[in-house]
Amino acid sequence: GLHPLYVITPTYRRPEQLAELTRMAQTLLLVRNVQWLVIEDAKVPSKHVEQLLKRSGLLYQHLTAAMPEQYRKRRGAKPKGVAQRNRGLQWLRANASVGVFYFADDDNTYDVAIFDEIRSTKRVSMFPVGLCTKFGLSTPVVSSTGAFMGFYDGWLGGRKFPVDMAGFAVSVKFLHMRPKAIMPYVPGFEEDGFLRSLAPLEPKEIELKADNCTKVLVWHTQAKANAPSPPLDMVKYNQTNLA
Ligand code: UDP
Ligand code: MN
Repeated sequence: GLHPLYVITPTYRRPEQLAELTRMAQTLLLVRNVQWLVIEDAKVPSKHVEQLLKRSGLLYQHLTAAMPEQYRKRRGAKPKGVAQRNRGLQWLRANASVGVFYFADDDNTYDVAIFDEIRSTKRVSMFPVGLCTKFGLSTPVVSSTGAFMGFYDGWLGGRKFPVDMAGFAVSVKFLHMRPKAIMPYVPGFEEDGFLRSLAPLEPKEIELKADNCTKVLVWHTQAKANAPSPPLDMVKYNQTNLA
């Protein structure tokens, strides 16, 4: 039969959270044999996320992994979602033997076709991601004869694998063959660090998906941050004023 697809999604509490998770849940309802690993950046699972997951009808695991304090307190760029993705890897190592996994942030936009593309990943596959840099695209560069030529990204940063988090998938069997693979807490180098930890693995060995990387089937969208809503007593006060 069809092997499972594991979608690893870090999430955290903010005004947009339920909107993003609803959008993503309803995308995943269109995907066959998918298990959603939703991992909160929190010490305890929250009721509102649990309710959404239960109501979705999806097969899911609701886990938690808080960003370590030393990184949370840091000024500037933080390693967002790293603790949770590593928790997802830990869950797969303990609970999965076959299939493919994909790191899918809660705020991106997924064409359902991407999930069928990555299902056939033997080791590691890659494909274009739209919108993630000012260059509008992050992708492997492929020649007209289908040969891997290199990477295109707005920021190369000396990376061996200059790709977006949404731009690759890995087979569970391959993960089991790389017991030390882990995502580092280094902002900007999370993808590269993780892919390097899958060594031995060379860019030219990557399986190219989405019609030899000619199609964009996932976008790194970002919701504009909203101010948190005012406390309820404030809302009541305003309503009283209107009456
Ligand atoms: N995230 C998190 N804790 C945070 C910030 C972000 O768990 O403090 C999650 C977020 O829900 C998303 C992933 O980590 O799934 C990447 O974060 P974000 O989308 O903000 O990163 P960007 O799109 O700016 O790279
Ligand atoms: Mn994002």
